[in-house]
Amino acid sequence: MTTTPSSPAEPAVFPRTPSTRARDLVAQVAELGPTFAERAARYDREASFPYENWEDLAAIGFLGLCIPERYGGLGADFTTYALVAEEIGRHCGSTALTFNMHTATCLLVGQVVDELALPPAEAAVVEERRQRLYADVLTKGTIHAQPFSEGLSGRATTGVATTATPVDGGYLVRGRKIFASLSEAAGIHDIVCLVPGDDRIRFMGVPADADGLSIVGDWDPLGMRGTVSKTLVFEDVFVPADNEWLPPGVFDQVAARWPFFYMTLSFAYLGVCRAVMDFTRSYLRGEIDGSSRAGNDQKRAVWAEMQVRHAAARALALQVLGRVRVDPDPDEVALAWSSMVTTMETAPELASMAIRACGGRSILRPLPLERFYRDARCGATMLPWSVEVCLDRLGRHGLVDGEETFA
Ligand SMILES: Cc1cc2nc3c(=O)[nH]c(=O)nc-3n(C[C@H](O)[C@H](O)[C@H](O)COP(=O)(O)OP(=O)(O)OC[C@H]3O[C@@H](n4cnc5c(N)ncnc54)[C@H](O)[C@@H]3O)c2cc1C
Repeated sequence: MTTTPSSPAEPAVFPRTPSTRARDLVAQVAELGPTFAERAARYDREASFPYENWEDLAAIGFLGLCIPERYGGLGADFTTYALVAEEIGRHCGSTALTFNMHTATCLLVGQVVDELALPPAEAAVVEERRQRLYADVLTKGTIHAQPFSEGLSGRATTGVATTATPVDGGYLVRGRKIFASLSEAAGIHDIVCLVPGDDRIRFMGVPADADGLSIVGDWDPLGMRGTVSKTLVFEDVFVPADNEWLPPGVFDQVAARWPFFYMTLSFAYLGVCRAVMDFTRSYLRGEIDGSSRAGNDQKRAVWAEMQVRHAAARALALQVLGRVRVDPDPDEVALAWSSMVTTMETAPELASMAIRACGGRSILRPLPLERFYRDARCGATMLPWSVEVCLDRLGRHGLVDGEETFA
């Protein structure tokens, strides 16, 4: 029997052994890691977008990470994506979070829709449109964003005030999206909106250079500053009918039948957890300032507790990854909510514990710990599966019948 050694920051827990392909893809981004980590301080200080990191990701084909191989992509599935996202987040949280938005669109019109097994006519529409979407990503380097939030609801399929009014050849979109990550970097903003008089959510790609689309407001947040998530305003922006990536009603189906889609961004924060663990280990060993604190019992106790918390968060996330499928059982979705809460709360808790254990000098810039602390704090707020929303649903789950709402 052979055993694989694991570092203290990498608990050897996985319900399904990652494929060689997944390990290979993770190894490829791990090679970029030190460069990403070095640039992260500047993106954070300037609240500027990590363009260089995206160029590096594009150079190794990762814009097509979750584009199936038959279209020319790397063919990673949801689980492989999660492991790659964690590795990117380990080095730059903002790069991982923005990469999530792009890759989530690729997964949505690929693996997720395929697993819904749509009727042939709808599947044909998806097929024709995604061929173009994927080709643009792979040949032109088009980056996709997912500005869904309007600040009106905690759910995925309500609180959508943005409208798409049918006109010759497409739609005129009118509305406003807050926290649009990649606001200045995306080539296509994939929005959710409604056609007046029809309650089915529509999912369509608004070209970033379209007339009537403007980016407004400042961007000077606590953390995840490199996401540059400004507000988008749409004033009768023409969207070609062919840019409606999913037939009407399919997005609603995704929310009801493939709700794991809403946990993609948590893996970026799992990566921030890894960053905190990596830093704390090095710092306590004296590898950063030459002064080891590894002999101090109280610091060892905090470090021990951090390992327990990190291992629990990661094990739960991996457990959910082993259950991701279409039409899940409510208990499986509840497990995913538990995982969201655990990841999004463990990240800032670990960062906080790390500061206590490492001490005052560890929070001085240019050391990255204070940035991890700020980045980590953002995760809990992210809808539609924010920590509050997940806790609210978990509070009902098993106690209140007939109120199951997955997303
Ligand atoms: C760094 C960062 C990047 C982001 N990037 C994106 C992105 O790319 N795309 C995107 O779509 N969004 C993005 N978001 C936005 C995020 O998903 C949330 O929509 C946003 O944080 C909500 O802020 P708010 O102030 O409107 O929150 P809130 O006011 O708390 O919530 C908005 C609405 O939801 C309701 N709500 C909130 N919690 C509950 C609850 N527990 N129960 C019932 N109703 C509730 C509120 O009443 C309110 O009407 C990002 C956020 C951050 C911090």
